[in-house]
Amino acid sequence: MNDSEYGFETQAIRTQLERTKFQEHSVPLYLTSSFVFEDAEDMRASFTEEKERNIYSRFSNPNTTEFVDKICKMEGAEAGYAFATGMAAVYSTFAALLNAGDHIVSAGSVFGSTHALFVNYFPKWNIQTTYFDINKPETIESCIQPNTKILYAESPTNPAIDIIDLELLGAIAKKHNLILIIDNCFATPYIQQPIKFGAHLVIHSATKLIDGQGRVLGGVTVGREDLIREIYLFSRNTGPALSPFNAWVLSKSLETLAVRLDRHCENAFKVAEFLEAHPNVNTVKYPFLKSHPQYEIAKKQMSLGGNIVAFEIKGGIEAGRKFLNNIKLCSLSANLGDTRTIVTHPASTTHSKLSVEERLAVSITDGLVRISVGLETVKDVIDDLKQALA
Ligand SMILES: *Cc1c(COP(=O)(O)O)cnc(C)c1O
Repeated sequence: MNDSEYGFETQAIRTQLERTKFQEHSVPLYLTSSFVFEDAEDMRASFTEEKERNIYSRFSNPNTTEFVDKICKMEGAEAGYAFATGMAAVYSTFAALLNAGDHIVSAGSVFGSTHALFVNYFPKWNIQTTYFDINKPETIESCIQPNTKILYAESPTNPAIDIIDLELLGAIAKKHNLILIIDNCFATPYIQQPIKFGAHLVIHSATKLIDGQGRVLGGVTVGREDLIREIYLFSRNTGPALSPFNAWVLSKSLETLAVRLDRHCENAFKVAEFLEAHPNVNTVKYPFLKSHPQYEIAKKQMSLGGNIVAFEIKGGIEAGRKFLNNIKLCSLSANLGDTRTIVTHPASTTHSKLSVEERLAVSITDGLVRISVGLETVKDVIDDLKQALA
């Protein structure tokens, strides 16, 4: 079947494993750790990879393959590998591609555990990272050294919702022969496809909007075939594989990604507009609000604004804590991208161990509140925020 002409939603729904003799309509769950061989020759050819087939679920599994195939089609990627968590994807991707002495150039505002990898763990193997300020992209090239191998960023960023110009990153990576890796978790492939702008690899925490219902953990890296081959060989030996059950759940979730994201983004835009007009709110950051400092770039590289809204509450840390305590309907939780709206106040929670200067370096002010807008009736979400802000 030549399915490359089908639209995004059709690919997400109709990319499916071959039917078994039972003629099932929906793909079954292949909860098996290993697969059997016909004879010694079949086994030999399978292990030397002369045959493409499943051997052991640490290497591949039908449900995982279906999930990866869908993400590859959605991102326009050649190949991929699925992981137990988003962090397993981030760690294994770097670990597979880097040697001792290599150097990373990364945006300073990255996911907390990714930051921990860069500053606490990679230096153990003499891999250093230089951060650039996401709001000063003109400084990126000055961070590049002769031993720089990877250029890394997330866009939009967590939790400040800054945007970086992916086309610019693609051009810098090309000029300096770097591997450009984008964590596309906040946008999902429905909204933004970094490979179009020159990314070589795209990473997702599937735990977030891809699952979309706060049920399972998962991660995936997709992109250029030769790089994925390195990542696959590293992973097949070190064991960060996604479980078949989670792959089955996540592949089903992808069938509704487009409709879910349409509503998530519609609701988030309404929440952003409400907050922008509220007297107890200083500033609102949402990529598709005209007031966003990188609005033009967001419009260029994203088809919708995403489901995360950041805003600055008047009154700093104390006002932020009070706001969280007054929330009734929305959840206080560490996840995001769920059907349920989630509110967090980074300065008093996730980022409370950092100094004020360290927080400001990654755009986290004392009054910053992050909302992952869910799929509830949007009026109910706005009413909850309204009473908590009062
Ligand atoms: C959550 C998250 C991760 C890590 O994903 P897990 O599935 O929690 O391991 C990585 N990057 C970003 C941007 C995230 O939001």
